Amino acid sequence: MDKAYSKNDLMKLAIEEHLKCSEYPRVGALVTKGGKVLSTGYRGEVSGVHAERVALEKLCHAERLGSTIYTTLEPCVKLHHDQSIESCAELIISSGATEVVIGVLDPNGTIYSQGFRKLLENNISVSFFSRKLREAVEEETFEFGDIHRVYSSGKRRVPVVHSGIDIYVQFSESDIRTIPISWKTLQYSHGCVDLSSNSGAVTVAAGTTNLSDITDTAVFRFPSHVARMKKGMIAIVRPSGASFCVLIKLHEIFENDILFQWEVRNCT
Ligand SMILES: [Zn+2]
Repeated sequence: MDKAYSKNDLMKLAIEEHLKCSEYPRVGALVTKGGKVLSTGYRGEVSGVHAERVALEKLCHAERLGSTIYTTLEPCVKLHHDQSIESCAELIISSGATEVVIGVLDPNGTIYSQGFRKLLENNISVSFFSRKLREAVEEETFEFGDIHRVYSSGKRRVPVVHSGIDIYVQFSESDIRTIPISWKTLQYSHGCVDLSSNSGAVTVAAGTTNLSDITDTAVFRFPSHVARMKKGMIAIVRPSGASFCVLIKLHEIFENDILFQWEVRNCT
């Protein structure tokens, strides 16, 4: 592995690694120095071991020192105090690597951007794959259901680029009733993004700040086919004829992504 690659080629090699994964989420990683690939890893290459760890464990300390790591998915962070195995972010920090290049941030609302920030706080320089390759990673990292289908209630970060993103909100894992929603025309500099559904389905819940403030979804009027959402706003999506509705709160707007919360409610 003596060839020196360009950054763009290294991103592509990391994507080749993640495509070797047989289960989702797919993650591939490379440890590099001066454009040369020192080791590779993908999630599942060693049973139950994350891609970054697989790649780093193939090297000795001297090789890890000063390296640049390419990983298709944001490194994980410690979520529980009693977690027995150190997170990939901690492993990278202790490995002596100085730079990390990330494909996509973890869309899981409880993890998103924490790995990225943890690296930055520990003086590791962090950058991202080029936009085009990032989209390729997004398409392949998660099963269709993971990024385009959500259930019951939760929080999720999703990319909003080009024609936007369609998401199916399913009542529960066992109850397949579904309401489609769509996030479009993200305007980061104006701090807004459009939420739409079938015609006449979106109603802004004016004056509310938490989903729990809403006890009766029928009190809000003037539904439209689209709502221009700003950070903190809540809307209710109820296509005509649907037997339930979904409450949507927009939590954050990023340059190419949004973080939203949803909760299904039976209609009275
Ligand atoms: Zn990990």
